[in-house]
Amino acid sequence: MKIKSDYSNEPNWIELNVKSSLPKELSCLDELAHNMWWGWNYEARNMFKSLDETLYEEVGHNPVLLLERLSYDRKQAIVKDKTLMKKVNDVYKMFTDYMSVKPNTQRPSVAYFSMEYGLNQVLKIYSGGLGMLAGDYLKEASDSNVDLCAVGFLYRFGYFRQSLSMDGQQLAKYDAQNFNSLPIERVLDKDGNQVVVDVPYSNYHVHALVWVANVGRIKLYLLDTDHDMNSEFDKSITHALYGGDWENRIKQEVLLGIGGMLTLKKLGIKKDVYHCNEGHAALCNLQRLCDYIEEGLTFNQAMELVRASSIYTVHTPVPAGHDYFDEELFGKYMGAYPAKLGISWDEFIGMGRTNPEDHSERFCMSTFACNTSQEINGVSKLHGWVSQKMFAPLWKGYFPEENSVGYVTNGVHLPTWTATEWRKVYDKYFDKSFMCDQSNEEIWHAIYNVSDEEIWNTRMALKNKLIKYIRDKFTQQWLRNQGDPAKVVSILEKINPNALMIGFCRRFATYKRAHLLFTDLDRLDRIVNNPDRPVLFFFSGKAHPADGAGQGLIKRIFEISRMPQFLGKIIFLEDYDMQLARRLVSGVDIWMNTPTRPLEASGTSGEKAELNGVVNLSVLDGWWVEGYREGAGWALPQKRTYENQAHQDQLDAATIYSLLENEITPLYFSKTKGKDYSADWVKVVKNSIATIAPHYTMKRQLDDYYSKFYEKLAARSRKLHANDNKLAKEIAGWKEVVAERWDSICVAESNISTLQDGVTGEPKTITYTIDEKGLQDAVGLELVVLDNNPSDDISVHKVLPFSLVKNEGNLYTFRLDFQPDEAGAYKCAVRMYPKSELLPHRQDFAYVKWLG
Ligand SMILES: *Cc1c(COP(=O)(O)O)cnc(C)c1O
Repeated sequence: MKIKSDYSNEPNWIELNVKSSLPKELSCLDELAHNMWWGWNYEARNMFKSLDETLYEEVGHNPVLLLERLSYDRKQAIVKDKTLMKKVNDVYKMFTDYMSVKPNTQRPSVAYFSMEYGLNQVLKIYSGGLGMLAGDYLKEASDSNVDLCAVGFLYRFGYFRQSLSMDGQQLAKYDAQNFNSLPIERVLDKDGNQVVVDVPYSNYHVHALVWVANVGRIKLYLLDTDHDMNSEFDKSITHALYGGDWENRIKQEVLLGIGGMLTLKKLGIKKDVYHCNEGHAALCNLQRLCDYIEEGLTFNQAMELVRASSIYTVHTPVPAGHDYFDEELFGKYMGAYPAKLGISWDEFIGMGRTNPEDHSERFCMSTFACNTSQEINGVSKLHGWVSQKMFAPLWKGYFPEENSVGYVTNGVHLPTWTATEWRKVYDKYFDKSFMCDQSNEEIWHAIYNVSDEEIWNTRMALKNKLIKYIRDKFTQQWLRNQGDPAKVVSILEKINPNALMIGFCRRFATYKRAHLLFTDLDRLDRIVNNPDRPVLFFFSGKAHPADGAGQGLIKRIFEISRMPQFLGKIIFLEDYDMQLARRLVSGVDIWMNTPTRPLEASGTSGEKAELNGVVNLSVLDGWWVEGYREGAGWALPQKRTYENQAHQDQLDAATIYSLLENEITPLYFSKTKGKDYSADWVKVVKNSIATIAPHYTMKRQLDDYYSKFYEKLAARSRKLHANDNKLAKEIAGWKEVVAERWDSICVAESNISTLQDGVTGEPKTITYTIDEKGLQDAVGLELVVLDNNPSDDISVHKVLPFSLVKNEGNLYTFRLDFQPDEAGAYKCAVRMYPKSELLPHRQDFAYVKWLG
C-alpha cells in the first residue's frame, strides 16, 4: 500500500465565547457599550477614549471591542483613578437619566423597515445615503422619545471597504464582522435561548436569528441567516448589502418584509403605522394582509386595514432604479401567497404591475408598495413632484399633479453630525431649549452674537483636525498601496490649512457628475495654484462594484491627483465611511454637489455641512432647491439650459469655475484689515447656520412625518378598526358594489354639447343626469379644464365640481355653472369618480370614467 502523503480529518471546532470580566466598579461600562447612544454623545465617546487612548484607536472606536481588549492592569488602574471614575459615573448617570424617560404615548407608534442603517462606522450595515437617513431617523426617534421600533439585517460582510491600487483601480474588500464584538445583543426568549424566526420560502423555511441594536431608547431588530440552521444557499441572504443576483435580492426582500413582520409578531409587537423606507421591505404589507385574512377578514377588508396604516417612502427618482422581478423568479418564492390571500395568481402579481393585465410586465416592488400603502412620499419638495410624475401611470384617471404622493424633505441628526467644537459654541450661545426646539430659527439667530473671531477659529480648528486625521489615517496606507514614497510624502506636506478647502464626497454614481470639475484642466490648474488664493479639493466615495463607469471616474480623478500641478491640490481619500464623512463635512470650507438635475432625490451630506459652518456650492436639486438662501451659499440654476447633457455639463463646469474665480475665492481671501480672517466669509457662514441649518435637522424631518402622515394614518386606521373593523368592512363592501356596477353606470341625459360653441366669457350651465344603477349617491362629477400653456408639466388648469341638484330613483342630476375666465382655446372634459367621505384620497379607489 502506498502511504498517503496527507491524511487528516476536519477539526471539530468548539466555539468558545470568552467574555472578559469587568471589575464591579466598571460593570456599567458593558451596558453603556451595548447601547449606541455613545455614538452621538461626545461625553461618552471621550470617556471611552480616556480608558485607553491607544487601544481606542486600535479598535476603531468600538467600545465593545475596547472593553474586550482592556488589560487586567489597565482595568485596575482605572478603578483607582478618581478623575476617570468620576467621568465614568457621570456618563453613566447621563445615560440612565436619558433612558428612564418613557416613550410618549400621545404620538402614534411606528414600525420602521429598511435594508440598511448607518448608525456608526463600527456597525457595517449601511452603504450610503439611504442607510444614513434610516440610522439618523432612529437616533432622532430616540431623542424625540417616540414609540418606534425598526427592523433590518445584520450583515456578515456589509458593504465593501474601498482601497485603490497603484493605478487608481478601486479594490473592494469584504471583511467578515465578528458579531460578538459589536454593540449589539442577542434577543433571548424566556428560556434564555436566542429567538429564531422561521420564514417561509418556496417550500421550506429559512431560520433567522434575531439580534438587537439598542439605539438609545429605540430597538432595532436585526435578522441574521448566516448560521448552521440554514443551507449554504440561504446563509448568504444576509451576507452582503446590495450584492448577489436577483434571486438573492428577492430572498432578501422576503426576509426583510415577511421575516420582519414575523419577527415583530413573535416578539409581540404591534404598532399603529408601518413605514417602508424604500420599496425593499414592501412585502411586510403582504404578511400583514395574510395575518388579517387568517383572522377571518376578506382580502378586500384586509386591504383596507393594511393600506390605512402604511406609508412608503420612495428615494429613487427614475423608474429604472426600482426592483423588478421576472414572473418565474417571483413565482418561485411567492407561489403560495395567492391561496393564502384568496385571490388568483394574476391578481396577485398584478399588484406589482402598472398595467396589471400586461403579462410582459415584471413585478415591481415599488408598485406593490404603492398599491398597498395609503401614503407615499418623496424625500424633498422637488423629488415629491418627480415621484408624482413617476408614479402617475398607476392612477390613469388623474394627472400627475393631482395624485396624493407627498414629500418630507430629508434631514440629518444634529448631535451625530455637528462637530463637538460647534456643539460647544451652540451650547454656549443658544437658548437652553435648543435641542428640543431645533427647527426654531429664532434660536439659531444667536449665532450672530458670536464674534467673527470665534467662528473663524472654530472653522480653523476643524480644518486642522481634518488634515491631522488625513495624515494619521492615510500615510501608512498610501505608502503601502500607492508606491513612490516621495510623492506620497509630498502630497501630505502640501495640504495647506490656509487654502480654501472644498469637499466633494458621495457615492460615485455617474449622475453625481464628479467629473464636472475636470472639464478644463488648465483653468482648474490656475484656480488651485493661485499663490494668493490657493484652493484644495478633497474627493471621496465608493462606486458600486458593478458600476464600471463609476469606477472609471474614480480612476480618472486619482490620475489627475497624481499630475504634478495637482499634487496635494486634488486629493482622493479612500473608503468614505461615517467617520471620514464626519471629519469632511466639518473640516472643509465648501461642500460641493453637482448632480444631473433632477436625479438627486434629496442628498443629505450638504445638510451635515450646514451644521458645521461649511457652506454649500451646489446645483439647485434635491434639498438645496429649498435650502438655498442668498448670501448663505451658492447655487447653480435649477433649470437646464440644454437638453444635450454634454452641453449642460460644459455650461455647469464653466459656472463653477467662474463662481470660484470671481466670487468665492475673492470673498474667502479678502482678509479684514488687521485680522487674519475674512469677516465677509464669516458673514456667509453665520447666515447659513442661522437661516438654513434649522430647517434640515432630523428633528424637523421626524416632526414632519408625524404631522403630515403618521397622525393622519393612525387616526383613520383607529376608526377603521373600531367595533370589530366595522368601518373597514363597510368601505370594502361599498367599493365592491361600486366596482361591480361601475361599467354599467351611464349618462341618461346631458347638455355637454352646448359647451363647444360658446362665446368666451358667457356663462354656461352644464347638466348631467346619471343612472347610478341602484347605487346611492355614489359618484361625483367634475369638469377638468386643461391649461392653455402648460408650464413645467403642470397641465390641469382647474377642476370644477358639479353639484348634485336632483334625485329621482336611480337618476341623479348634477349641475355646474361654468364661466371660462380667459379667452383662448380650452380643453375640457367631465370626469366621474366614486365619491365617499370615507376615502383618504382619490387614488385610494382610483376608478375614473370620462363622460362623453
Ligand atoms: C451623509 C452620507 C452619505 C449621503 O450623502 P449624499 O449627500 O446624500 O450623497 C453617504 N455616505 C456617507 C458615509 C454619509 O455620511
